Formats: sequence, C-alpha cells, structure tokens
Amino acid sequence: MKMGALTEYYHSLITDYYRPRKLARPILAIYLLPVMDTATNASINIIGGGLAGCEAAWQAAEAGVPVVLHEMRPQRRTDAHQTDRLSELVCSNSFRSDDHEFNAVGLLHEEMRRCGSLILKSADANRVPAGGALAVDRDGFSGAVQAAINDHPGITVVRGEVTELPLPGAATTIIASGPLTSPGLAGAIRNLTGEDDLAFFDAIAPIVHRHSIDFGKAWFQSRYDKGDGNDYINCPLDAEQYRAFIEALKLADKVSFHEWEASTPYFEGCLPIEVMAERGADTLAFGPMKPVGLTNPHNPTQKPKAVVQLRQDNALGTLFNLVGFQTKLRHGDQVRVFRAIPGLERAEFARLGGLHRNTFINSPRLLDAGLRLKSDPSLLFAGQITGCEGYVESAAIGLLAGRFAVSDVFGLNLAPPPRPTSR
Ligand SMILES: Cc1cc2nc3c(=O)[nH]c(=O)nc-3n(C[C@H](O)[C@H](O)[C@H](O)COP(=O)(O)OP(=O)(O)OC[C@H]3O[C@@H](n4cnc5c(N)ncnc54)[C@H](O)[C@@H]3O)c2cc1C
Repeated sequence: MKMGALTEYYHSLITDYYRPRKLARPILAIYLLPVMDTATNASINIIGGGLAGCEAAWQAAEAGVPVVLHEMRPQRRTDAHQTDRLSELVCSNSFRSDDHEFNAVGLLHEEMRRCGSLILKSADANRVPAGGALAVDRDGFSGAVQAAINDHPGITVVRGEVTELPLPGAATTIIASGPLTSPGLAGAIRNLTGEDDLAFFDAIAPIVHRHSIDFGKAWFQSRYDKGDGNDYINCPLDAEQYRAFIEALKLADKVSFHEWEASTPYFEGCLPIEVMAERGADTLAFGPMKPVGLTNPHNPTQKPKAVVQLRQDNALGTLFNLVGFQTKLRHGDQVRVFRAIPGLERAEFARLGGLHRNTFINSPRLLDAGLRLKSDPSLLFAGQITGCEGYVESAAIGLLAGRFAVSDVFGLNLAPPPRPTSR
C-alpha cells in the first residue's frame, strides 16, 4: 500500500489514457475541479441520506450535477437511528485508525480527503480524542454533514420513504438505503433483482454518563499511551471479577430471535459480547477487554485480568461508550451486568445496547464494476447495502458511486480504482 496511490491513479487516468482520446477535460471535471458548468439538466436521485448517500450527493453536486436526495426519516424511522439528521452514526463514534502509513482504513481516510470527501471533512472538524483513531462528536459530525448538504445549491433534500423502483422519471438513481433499508424498498429491490434477502445481525454498544463513573477505580489512559496518552477511560477486572462477569453475561436474559431470523448469521467483526463470552472463557480477555498497554495507577503493581475501555462520545466529554460492548442482552440485564464492572457500579446509561438485522445484496453477482445493476444500469448501489461494512467503507463506496453516476451523466466510462489504492 502506498500513500497517494489514488492521486497517482487519477493522474495516470488523465495522462495515460484519457488525454490521447481527448477526454482529459471531462475527467478533470469529475475528479479535480469541484465545480463545473452545469451543461446538463440531468439529475441524480439518491435514496438514503446516510454516510454513503450524503457522500455520493456531495461528490455529484460538486461536479455540477443536480442531485435529489431522498431520506425517509423522520416520517419513517429505523430500529437504530435516533434522530432525523443526515449521516447519523448509529453506534460507535469511531472512524477507526487514522494512520495512513500503516493501516488500510487510515489510508482510505487520506484518499477520501484528497477526493474532497464531505464525510472526512466533517469528521476532521468534529474530532474528539481517541488515541490514533479518528473519533467524532456524533451530533457535531452529523450536524456538519446536514448543514453542508442543505446549504449546497445543487442538492435538494426530499423527506419521505421511497418504495418504488425505478423512481418514476429518474435517469440515474443511487440506492444507498443502508443496512436498515425499509421493508417497502427492500421488497422493490427483491422484485428487481429476483433475489432473496441476504442479511446478518449487528449490535449496538451502550453509552454512559461520565459523571457516574467511579474514578477511585477507573482511570484515563490510551493503550500504549497513543494519541494524547489519556484518551480512554479504563475499568479493571481481576481474575475473579472477570470470571463472574463472563458467567453473568452467559446467564443474562437475551433478546430472542423470531423464527424467520433464526438462520441469519452475525457479522463476525461486530459480535455481541455475550456471543464472544459463549465462544470461550478468555475470548473477551483477548478481544475488546485485553489488558495490554495499560497500567492501573490505583494498583500499578498488579496487572488486571481484563479491562473495559470507554471512548469519548461527544465533544463536551460528558458521554463515553463501552468499546466493543455491542450486545443483545435485555435492557434490565444490561444495567445489572454492566454495573458489576468495577468503576461502573453507579453508571447512568444515556443509551443501552441493541441488535439489528442488516440487509445487503449479492453485489458480485448483481453489480458491474461501476456499482451499476447489471439488469438496469441506470440504478447504482452504494454503502453498506452493497455488502461492505462500516462507516468509512460505506462512505467510500458512496464517493465512488457518486463519481460513477456523474460519469454516466456525462457519457464517460470511468474505470474503478486500481489495486495500488486501498479499494
Ligand atoms: C445496529 C448497527 C450498528 C452499527 N455499528 C457500527 C459501528 O460501530 N461502526 C461502524 O463503522 N459501522 C457500524 N455499523 C454499520 C454502519 O451503520 C453502516 O456501515 C453505515 O451507517 C452505513 O452507511 P449507509 O449510508 O450505507 O447506511 P445508513 O447510514 O444507515 O444510511 C441509510 C439511510 O437510508 C435511509 N432509508 C432507508 N430506507 C429508505 C427508504 N425506503 N427511503 C428513503 N430513505 C431510506 C435511512 O433512514 C438512512 O438514513 C452499524 C450498523 C448497524 C445497523
């Protein structure tokens, strides 16, 4: 992986391929010049004002193509979103590692920044301390994205659920309705693709008010003192406390599945903690609760068996989320089990964890390399519904879909990014 590979890719597109074919100017317009003549009346419709939809809208509008962005909230809510804001972060407030030299997600951040990403710009502007990670104040972040989208003269936001495909009269449509696509639209996608739903379960971690944490037991420190050195709150468990915690997790009351959900798998990168606890007594101690890179100032000579880390969740520093503690325990049992963690005995929860079924399509079979539906290339897909996972990845696919859609509007044939990029 090499920093700047995407920039090199754009450069090579222009110099090596498009210039000899006299197409340098329109490609420049798509990639490099933020605003160009709106020589066409064609507009792009985008369904879903999440991470992918907003990034796609921004990229297209910045290239001079009018965009209509459809978002169903607040008229119709999802099981996970809590506000009517565009680009709401439904769980963690982290965009993960920001290390562009040694981490693929960090490299993707940098490539997106260089492509004028709205999501990265808004994340950078709303950073909170998180060691080497890019974490954000979630309200500040989504507020910044929403303000930029609302203020852009090329973007019209329409609030309301879309249930019909193709959209009547639309030339190019990007479907970015996310893992929680409304059942009506999911049905339309199913009719169009002739596929059964593919799905997996994903879970949300709880958030705690900082003032309710006992700093006689907890302490501030980042693993290996990364970032400012004290970006996380740590709650230590000795061997006996850890054993009791694992037992409590296993015995706690869980949300049960409907019959039709029983065969749906979990997303392995975001397993509920109680599922990890079932996999082995030490799975959590080697996973999100690993005690490495930390020294407990209240008891410096004794290494804890495990540590629960909490990451800042808002700019004020009043809210902290339990890192890796996504869960499907029933709410009453979450409060009981998590208050057994040293330092959280009096924890007040701003939000408890939850479990959701995610929808995605069989992209390798249904889409071409430009994210277009093979059976109807006027329809593109973006974000998590394409089968990627995570805020950054979803926004990156939105960025590409926006640019592919613009190239379609201008009758160009834009190649996907090559292997040296973090694609
Ligand atoms: C419960 C849960 C927890 C997660 N936790 C994390 C995490 O901690 N870290 C991480 O990186 N990723 C996490 N993810 C994944 C993350 O949410 C997604 O990767 C990301 O938000 C997807 O971006 P998106 O734009 O594809 O979808 P979204 O951000 O969900 O946006 C889709 C938008 O489409 C709208 N919409 C849906 N149907 C319609 C319709 N019919 N008409 C109009 N609008 C519609 C929705 O209201 C929503 O605003 C989680 C996902 C879920 C479901």
